[in-house]
Amino acid sequence: MSENYRSMWSDLGLDLDAHDILMNLVGNAYQATFLSQENRPDGMSYFDFVMSEVHGLRIKELLDEKEAGRKIIGSYCVFVPEEIVLAANATLVGLCSGADFATEEVEKLLPRNTCALIKSAFGFKIGKVCPYLEAADMVVGENTCDGKKKAYESFGRLVDNLYVMDLPQMKSGEGRALLKAEYHRFKKELEGLTGVLITTESLKNGIRTVNAKRAALHRLSSLRKHAPSPISGLDSLLANQVAFYDNPARFTESVNKICDELEKRVSDGTGVFPEKRPRLLISGCPQAIPNWKLPAIIESSGAVIVGEESCVGERGVRNLTDDSGDTVDAMMEAIVDRYFQVDCAIFTPNSERLDHIQEMVAAYRADGVIHYGLQFCQPYLMESIPVERALKEKNIPCLSIETDYSMEDVGQLQTRIEAFVEQISG
Ligand code: SF4
Ligand code: SF4
Repeated sequence: MSENYRSMWSDLGLDLDAHDILMNLVGNAYQATFLSQENRPDGMSYFDFVMSEVHGLRIKELLDEKEAGRKIIGSYCVFVPEEIVLAANATLVGLCSGADFATEEVEKLLPRNTCALIKSAFGFKIGKVCPYLEAADMVVGENTCDGKKKAYESFGRLVDNLYVMDLPQMKSGEGRALLKAEYHRFKKELEGLTGVLITTESLKNGIRTVNAKRAALHRLSSLRKHAPSPISGLDSLLANQVAFYDNPARFTESVNKICDELEKRVSDGTGVFPEKRPRLLISGCPQAIPNWKLPAIIESSGAVIVGEESCVGERGVRNLTDDSGDTVDAMMEAIVDRYFQVDCAIFTPNSERLDHIQEMVAAYRADGVIHYGLQFCQPYLMESIPVERALKEKNIPCLSIETDYSMEDVGQLQTRIEAFVEQISG
């Protein structure tokens, strides 16, 4: 990274030594996990470039946007509506939380048995290693699970621009009314921050930009329904992860370009792997950058991942927002409708998710499901039991994995996953 970036990071208040440690860790993991794959689509070079500049050029772009008067909004959850952020002339970036950092310091503020995702969010702040977090003019926390809800009380002491969004827990009329009220409150807050009044036109444009991004990701997912799959699960996951950081229009164009290439592979019957492999679906907690442990183990165990039932995957992007409304209120209703369908495990009851996993198994022609729960994540670990039961009733093999961000259990996971892959191959 150039010296310019070092002064940019320093101006943002990053701890340069700690940041070097994080960058080395991510760079080495990326090299070992992604660049070592064979037969990658040529279009993945764009994502390799984005990843090589994830704390460089992209941050410079965001700082240039700030310089020009645009605000940057950081978020931890797919319930934060990008449509409204764009309409207020602001940019939304995901705050990743996919690696352990400053764990000892974090555990002075949070119980040890807090999920790795929440701890990581704290670690990146305490360790001063995340330029996205430091560049953000507003950080949105959302009341999803109890862990996050309570953690934001402490997080507010570390981050002075934290905005907490309340979220419903039930898909009831009252739940929808709460989501609607919260989205209107968020819109007002954004308008206050940016000084931009959201109009019918700006909201329509915001919806269209986000819909185009989601449609490109749907196109990518749909290509994985073919056997053999033309792209690895790791590379598809990477595209879904980059969706949270990149400029939306450029991202959409790059994903569509890869899809053109993959369509050619599909019509030629060319798969990413030379041999026939068991097809697996991953379902469960989101996998944020650089949390690549589980998919790397799965694909190095002789399977191919054909879909992610996850917020970094299909749960996060599957529904589009109706853009046909001709008033701001009508489109706000459409936004509420769209997000109210997200079947996160924080909802009770949440039978839609069970149905959706089974629909995905059929659509993606999966031979089995790996349910991924982060250690201490009550919503997804609790839901793994009915998920496993529902799948077993339909004779769909399912393996539930509970893990964290450390590398300590790699050997054990490898053994379990290899045995599962062998079982479904037979
Ligand atoms: S799993 Fe739930 S809480 Fe987490 S990002 Fe998705 S919707 Fe938000
Ligand atoms: S839903 Fe689970 S993984 Fe997500 S923040 Fe809460 S405890 Fe962590």
